Amino acid sequence: MKPMGAIPAEFRGDGPLQIAGEMAEAWIEAAGDTPLFVYDADMVTARIARLRAAMPAGLDIHYAIKANPFAPLIAVMAPLVDGLDIASKGEMALALAAKPGSAISFAGPGKRDAEIVAAIKAGVTLNLESEGEAIRALMAAERLGVTPRLAVRVNPEMELRGSGMRMGGRASPFGIDADRAAAIAKRLVAAGVDWRGFHIFAGSQALDAQAIIETQAETLALAGRLADEVGVTPPLVNLGGGFGIPYFPGEEPLDIEAIGLALGERMASLPPSLKGARFAIELGRWLVGEAGVYLTRVIDRKESRGETFLVVDGGLHHQLAASGNFGTVVKRNYPVSVATVTPGGAVETVSVVGCLCTPLDRLADRVSLPVAGPGDVIAVFMAGAYGLSASPTAFLGHELPGQMLAGGRDTPNAIFTSSAP
Ligand SMILES: *Cc1c(COP(=O)(O)O)cnc(C)c1O
Repeated sequence: MKPMGAIPAEFRGDGPLQIAGEMAEAWIEAAGDTPLFVYDADMVTARIARLRAAMPAGLDIHYAIKANPFAPLIAVMAPLVDGLDIASKGEMALALAAKPGSAISFAGPGKRDAEIVAAIKAGVTLNLESEGEAIRALMAAERLGVTPRLAVRVNPEMELRGSGMRMGGRASPFGIDADRAAAIAKRLVAAGVDWRGFHIFAGSQALDAQAIIETQAETLALAGRLADEVGVTPPLVNLGGGFGIPYFPGEEPLDIEAIGLALGERMASLPPSLKGARFAIELGRWLVGEAGVYLTRVIDRKESRGETFLVVDGGLHHQLAASGNFGTVVKRNYPVSVATVTPGGAVETVSVVGCLCTPLDRLADRVSLPVAGPGDVIAVFMAGAYGLSASPTAFLGHELPGQMLAGGRDTPNAIFTSSAP
């Protein structure tokens, strides 16, 4: 038997799985079929409220919508966050449906001219990833006769220690190297653009508060030095994010209150070059990851050479990360449960495998679960971020799963919107 990560507290109960106060089977019935993603809106709004309370007053909170671009979810989150961060023209359309262009920033390498033009027209801030992109943005703005909103994304010297995906401290397609960033910013200011400041993102999926505290301090120091060099206070310094969530056995939730306290102290003693600047953090998975559950029904139960397999109607084509094939080296088990069974009965060691014809399609490897068979529903937790949109949905030609938003501030447990399977 192999261990699995911890099920988020909101989904631990005495009976069959409930999501936002309704049985998993009720959500499936409402959606029409499995596989199905259900996102709990109340969990997301509670996370945003906890983050606001923990972070210093005046710190802007941005949602990086690549974590989960489900439009009804963005609609719930948009009024509660200060900005949306996007990385493509498709995400821009989603973000503009929920926020004005002035509250949206566009990062990511390889922006096409059409994307640059669309962003400038919409008043979206472009986080420039290279000098070439800066030149293309200036040329596009001149052709359009519009003053563009441009920020410089910085490739910092430091990396976020312990982060799942390192984004700094090395040669990188992301951001302009720190030693060139001030010169580019100066050119932008001289060219008369609406310079929006710096964007400094040093890593992702960190669970060590101390590492994030150190990185934020270094980021503020770097921003201070750059602002000094430019000679103009940056309107906004985006400090990045990197707030992780515990997916795997032995991982502990991040102490965001400690991060907020330390950041508050730093922000109370800023270098003169940053006095008057606004600050933001941009988070994806911390806001939405724990709020999503992927529900998939058992089609077959088979024994092979002494092992038991539960074969489900979903798989890695919807939830690649749980199969261990998205940014992880070693396959470790996401938390899973049998959604249709009351815990406390007999358990057995089983592997949950998807319906794709590839040995990669294993959602849980030799975990201890209540005894289950065809007709039961398996819940894969931590499915709210980098789930459906980060999975190879076309691989093997199965249908798309449904997605539902459960709960909401005004209508408890209401089904907000669904996309039918
Ligand atoms: C992906 C990304 C994020 C969100 O990362 P999470 O780990 O989901 O919080 C934030 N900012 C940038 C620039 C990104 O590329």
